Amino acid sequence: MSAKKGIEAKIVIAKDCGFCFGVKRAVETIYELKNKTDKKIVVAGELIHNKNFIERLEKDGIYCIDEGEIAELEREKDNVIVVIRTHGATKELVGKIEKMGIEYVDATCPFVKRIHKIVDENSKNCDYTIIAGDKNHPEVKGIQSYSHSATAVLSDEDECEKFVKSTPNCSQTAVLMVSQTTNNNEKYVNCQKIIKNLYTKVKIFDTICNVTGKRQNEAKKIASNADIMFIIGCVKSSNTKKLYDIASEYCKKTYLVEDASEIPESEIISELERAKEFYGSEKNDFTVGITAGASTPDDIIEEVVAGIGRIINSGESTN
Ligand code: SF4
Repeated sequence: MSAKKGIEAKIVIAKDCGFCFGVKRAVETIYELKNKTDKKIVVAGELIHNKNFIERLEKDGIYCIDEGEIAELEREKDNVIVVIRTHGATKELVGKIEKMGIEYVDATCPFVKRIHKIVDENSKNCDYTIIAGDKNHPEVKGIQSYSHSATAVLSDEDECEKFVKSTPNCSQTAVLMVSQTTNNNEKYVNCQKIIKNLYTKVKIFDTICNVTGKRQNEAKKIASNADIMFIIGCVKSSNTKKLYDIASEYCKKTYLVEDASEIPESEIISELERAKEFYGSEKNDFTVGITAGASTPDDIIEEVVAGIGRIINSGESTN
């Protein structure tokens, strides 16, 4: 794409974005199930944090219900299959479904399952299981439920410092430490340092999923060279938010958009105009960076990319 005043506008899209392995696997599992059974399919919680996709599932007769509503399936228990979502579920919820005698399919991502196993096997002789992550996220609640010791969910370095100060006798306290799969890599490394500095009996596991780390690095690289950056995904999605936080550090004009209807057209035009003003001195190009969360469907990404392309083209032709 080239513009009047010679500025070259381009869109750089992350090579690795959109549905990750765990989400693809869960979506395939559900639709295979749908083709095999006449039973009602119900997901315990939102399958993924993406409003558009949840609406599509509903149109296809697949319903995401609150975990608290599982008990209400009692009346139709012989005619329903519950799917455990990618984030996993608490041990208690799975136990409840089993006790009710409801058929269920476990679509928990294997990377999350691995953390359940680590916590189950390693927390028995610990005083604390520390989970680096968001205490309100369903994945973290699930992980917490597998611990045999007291748990502490710490979201960042400050919370780690506070925890250490409030837990005396660091040389005697045995600690197990894991992270939510979608945590910020750098933040987790910093938290590990704080914990390792003070506790001698500490077992730390690297449990951030490799999809997350790779995508965060790519977002950082793209944002560093972008005039304006877009993260496509839902604000409720943890990995999407992390991509947004990271990109914002490297590109001040970073926007989180759920779909094409949220593209901030006037912001793109004004950034393009600004780039044109500096053409030949500081700038010869205008770069729009784009990446998307692991729960963003491909067609939504395509619509956003096409929408941004149209805006750039119209912006180029206004001078
Ligand atoms: S982001 Fe990683 S842990 Fe989460 S569902 Fe995808 S592959 Fe699994």
